[in-house]
Amino acid sequence: MRFKPDELTRLRRGIMKRGQTLSTVLADLLAGKQHPSMASILAAKPGLRPEEAVRKMLDEVEARRKLIDADDDAYGRCDVCGEDLGIYALGELPWADRCHAHASV
Ligand SMILES: [Zn+2]
Repeated sequence: MRFKPDELTRLRRGIMKRGQTLSTVLADLLAGKQHPSMASILAAKPGLRPEEAVRKMLDEVEARRKLIDADDDAYGRCDVCGEDLGIYALGELPWADRCHAHASV
């Protein structure tokens, strides 16, 4: 792995926290509650119902956690070009799966 054990622990914790947040949002949406804080994120995924968009994000976050758990070198790299996103970017968004150039793909 390219990361130190304590870095991985921290990144994994960040991913878990994100997953919990998204799970809560998903449960709220399914219960018919609004989530104004998610509006901008949902707007970036046109064509999907809010709960579908959140479920998709949850799946993506979960997939990243599995990469960490599997010691998979794909963790922390761009899904498109394989660029190493680096510990600083991952510190901000541990579930990141795209470099800047491919962020909107
Ligand atoms: Zn890329």
